[in-house]
Amino acid sequence: MNLFETHAHLTDAQFDLDREAVLNRACDAGVETLVEIAESPESWEKAQALAEKTASPRMFWACGFHPHYAERQKDFNFDDMMRRTKSSSCVAVGEIGLDYAKSESSKENQEALFRKTLEIAGELNKPVIIHCRDAQADTLRILRSFYSGLSRRELCMGVIHCFSGDSNFAEGCMDLGFYLGVDGPLTYPSAKGLRDVISKVPLEKIVLETDCPYLPPQPFRGKRNEPAYLTHVAQKLSEIFARSEDEISLVTAANARRLFRV
Ligand SMILES: [Zn+2]
Ligand SMILES: [Zn+2]
Repeated sequence: MNLFETHAHLTDAQFDLDREAVLNRACDAGVETLVEIAESPESWEKAQALAEKTASPRMFWACGFHPHYAERQKDFNFDDMMRRTKSSSCVAVGEIGLDYAKSESSKENQEALFRKTLEIAGELNKPVIIHCRDAQADTLRILRSFYSGLSRRELCMGVIHCFSGDSNFAEGCMDLGFYLGVDGPLTYPSAKGLRDVISKVPLEKIVLETDCPYLPPQPFRGKRNEPAYLTHVAQKLSEIFARSEDEISLVTAANARRLFRV
């Protein structure tokens, strides 16, 4: 197995006591490469430092500004985000996007922040990692308006992380060149609808993620998630696509390398 974990939050305080052991277990489980996701200005420095000091798995990071923090952008200086995103260990801008399910930020402020951070990614030619919760129509509207003027092939594009939604949304994202990130919820007994949607997506458009410490796969529900559990997502995809777990990990890792250009 050579798994590529595209979405982890290992700087979360839930890993403070055993981060090293978690990384070792990830290696033992076959995770070769990992992208650490920084979602707020407070986590940028930590995520960058962790990525740059970790040798195995090979680690990169993404510089993001989650919609939960959209109310704070007014007094924020985005030069620091530009500067950090330019560093060679930073492979993407994200997570960014819209969250209409849980966020206390207004839709207007979320959209303004989403557009601002898309512009930064465009300027620096980095892919984006999109968080979209209960906001499919607005996400597609904004992505279409942002990418319509640009040549698609030249674009760095990105991934819709923790994909949820129907086939229309999946098609819309893939038409724009986006990959779909799948994680623990794919393994839940109640997620038949999601498995149906994913079964119609070409495997060449799928990347694996855990979104740890959140969204543990079925055997670990109620517990902390970690990158080693990526094998459970790979196993579920292997059932859905009737291909071996090795093939699933090879193809999705190649997709992730294309996406992040590493
Ligand atoms: Zn997210
Ligand atoms: Zn996340």
